[in-house]
Formats: sequence, C-alpha cells, structure tokens
Amino acid sequence: MKWTDKYKKAFALSYDDGVYQDVRLVEILNKYGLKCTFNLNSGLMNPNSVWYADGVKVERMPPDMLPDLYSGHEIASHLTAHQNPLDLDSPQLYDDVIQDVAALEEIFGRTVQGFAYPFGAVDNRIRDVLKRCGIKYARGVISTHGFELPADLLNISPTCRHREENIFQLAERFINLEPDTPQIFLLWGHSYEFDMQRGWERFERFCDLMSGHDDIYYAPCGDIFC
Ligand SMILES: [Zn+2]
Repeated sequence: MKWTDKYKKAFALSYDDGVYQDVRLVEILNKYGLKCTFNLNSGLMNPNSVWYADGVKVERMPPDMLPDLYSGHEIASHLTAHQNPLDLDSPQLYDDVIQDVAALEEIFGRTVQGFAYPFGAVDNRIRDVLKRCGIKYARGVISTHGFELPADLLNISPTCRHREENIFQLAERFINLEPDTPQIFLLWGHSYEFDMQRGWERFERFCDLMSGHDDIYYAPCGDIFC
C-alpha cells in the first residue's frame, strides 16, 4: 500500500453486475473525482440478461460499450455467470474464475486482480481457490460500519452499502478522522438500487460530501489494497 506514505485515509466504491444504471453512476463519480471498482460477469453481457428488482428494470450492458464507460475505474471478476460460489466444486470454481478474469482482461486490455463474491458467499474453501487463481483481494457484503484495514485481503468486508440509513453519519465521522494508522471507507452496492426511492439524489449528496478532501486518497480497491 504505497499510498499510505502520503495519506492516512482512502475512499473507494465497489459496484456489482455491470448494469445500464452504471452509466449514470459513472457520470456522477467522474463529476466528483471518485473511483470505483466494477465487478463484472463476462458471460452475462448479452441482451437476454434482464430482470426486475422491486419494479425496476435491470439489464446488463454489452461488452462493446464497457471499456469507454469504465475508463479510469477498475474492473474485477464476479464469476462468468454470477453463480453462487457455494454451488460450484473447487475445480469448477477455479476454472470459472480463470475464465472470467481472462475474458475481462481481453475486453478491457488490462490486468484484473480483484473479485467480489456473488451473493457474498465465501468460506475458507472458496477463499483458497481464489488465492490459487492469483486473485489479490476479494470483497464480501457484510457491513463493518468501520474503517479498519481488512485483516484478510481475500475476505474484505465493506464499510457499508449505500442504501443503509447511516451513510451520512459514517461519512462525517470518516471526514473528521485524523488517524495515526491508515483507514479505509469502502462503499458498495448495485447502481439499479438508485432507481428506487430517490436514490440518485441521495447518492449525489453523499458523493458531494465525500469528495474533494486533500487528506483522502481516492482510488479503486486494487490501488488501495494491493
Ligand atoms: Zn452481483
């Protein structure tokens, strides 16, 4: 973590599934100079991958629009078809991670070193397979509501999910911190959730609050954790 020579605080976002709402999300992030890791399923980038979440249409984007869109952000693996890792035996999981990383590296022309656990499913077996695949860090879904560095880079818990009630209090607390040791605020979610309940306005207020602080390093997960 070279950034810690200069900074004691870092902020990153991690968003999953590569859906059309990411276009609006990236616009907001770029406006505020924030950096995100996008966790993608290389096998689901087709028009048949549509579903509805609380009445909101969710559709994954085709690969040809992704390199431009995600330029300046990080790409990480989320398995080829969003399988639950618990449902795959170790050779299947190994092959799928290798395949997804290779496909994403081909699409984006850059190295993929991170992972987000589909459904947040992780145990020691899954973690060990990822390690053998060369994955450098992996994110789960259980909020810590804290800013401590993860003890295990292959089982990183985020600070919180954007739809949680207390994200503004957490942001204020983080902004006011003057820590002696490095601290990280990691926010995660799915951009389609912003289509529900005026989520976009709320998220933009959050980005406005979190951005522009001289003492915070803004970078995607890979730059922070590796
Ligand atoms: Zn997902």
